[in-house]
Amino acid sequence: MPTSLIPPPADDETECGNCGSYIYHGLLKCPNCGVYLDEPNETEDKSPKFRPKSKFSLAVESVLRKIRGEPDYAEELFTGALREKALFDDLLRKVGGDRSVVERLIEHERKQRPNATRLTCLQNAISRWENENR
Ligand SMILES: [Zn+2]
Repeated sequence: MPTSLIPPPADDETECGNCGSYIYHGLLKCPNCGVYLDEPNETEDKSPKFRPKSKFSLAVESVLRKIRGEPDYAEELFTGALREKALFDDLLRKVGGDRSVVERLIEHERKQRPNATRLTCLQNAISRWENENR
């Protein structure tokens, strides 16, 4: 059989998987053997619409926050800790370098305002110390 004489399918033709004859795209049924061509395949699109955020999208979000000038949560924590350290050192200097005194002053402020953060307690302790030691 001279297979080279068989022309390849044209652009708008498809080969029947059953009998091998060339059929126009768009036909649902092979005119030669009668097999249905465009049987709906199993839907491969089973991906959920709401995917959990990937590390990449979180990184993109972080960059976008920086572009918009919003503080990064981690950065906020960092500067908060730095500020706390600075205030602690400031108060430590004021009381003459005794850490236990600073802790007592912080503890005193915490009793005044139990819901205050350590940073706020430090700020209050400093202003109280400044008022009492003028
Ligand atoms: Zn066919």
